[in-house]
Amino acid sequence: MSRRVSLGQHFLVDPHVVDEILEIARPLPGERFVEIGPGRGAMTGPLLDAGAIVDAVEIDSALAGWLRGRWPDERMTVHVADALEFDYASVAAADLRLIGNLPYYLSTPLLFRLLEFAGIFRDITVMLQREVAERLCAPPGSRRYGRLTVMASSRCRPEWCLAVGREAFRPQPKVESAVVRLVPDSGLRVEAPEVFERLVRQAFSQRRKTIANALRAMASKEEIRAAGIDPSQRPEQIAAAEFASLAEQLAPT
Ligand code: SAM
Repeated sequence: MSRRVSLGQHFLVDPHVVDEILEIARPLPGERFVEIGPGRGAMTGPLLDAGAIVDAVEIDSALAGWLRGRWPDERMTVHVADALEFDYASVAAADLRLIGNLPYYLSTPLLFRLLEFAGIFRDITVMLQREVAERLCAPPGSRRYGRLTVMASSRCRPEWCLAVGREAFRPQPKVESAVVRLVPDSGLRVEAPEVFERLVRQAFSQRRKTIANALRAMASKEEIRAAGIDPSQRPEQIAAAEFASLAEQLAPT
């Protein structure tokens, strides 16, 4: 079976890393997992061995056919689909979990897509290129803090789990990897989600400017101050809760 590097097909071949990911996810018999990009089943096999039910979303129909032949198990369904367009809500299950060693060429848009569905998942455990994992977990004020950090932390609690070297994959990717677990969390109530999303997008499209300048077309300095934000701060210094409070101020009543 040929590999398609254009589809991010870097397969996990280090059994210790597989064990560590399984240790993070701790699948139990009967639990239902959506797995994005099962590839040659490095994680699918152990999930099935643990007694889990797996809905695998794989874009490569040749790999999908191979997976069906390798695990002709009634607990395994392979959806030949683009994970960016897949309707995750169609996998109806209480306590649904998601796992995946994501195709790195697509990981950022895929994370934004998964965040739209965050409410249906109990948790999301993903392997990503290390730089994207750092963006997910970055504290305010740090270099990696940005739109992805704010959108993720408005819906989930991201937990840094594991750094993974390039040698764990065949073929080796050009970059280092890391595993992050996102636990959907309703701790932050975003009352005006559409305004929030527009504000965050606008703020980080001009991250070198002060927040007042970056949001000039959307909010006055007074409105920014009223949300408890110092208008001279830069976007990367502003927490998700502060963006949410500004969005609420600006939302039409
Ligand atoms: N899970 C396997 C492993 O750990 O060895 C494979 C991981 S590999 C990094 C990414 C997988 O995602 C490949 O199997 C690739 O074919 C699949 N893939 C790439 N783009 C996809 C997409 N848009 N939707 C679904 N799967 C995709």
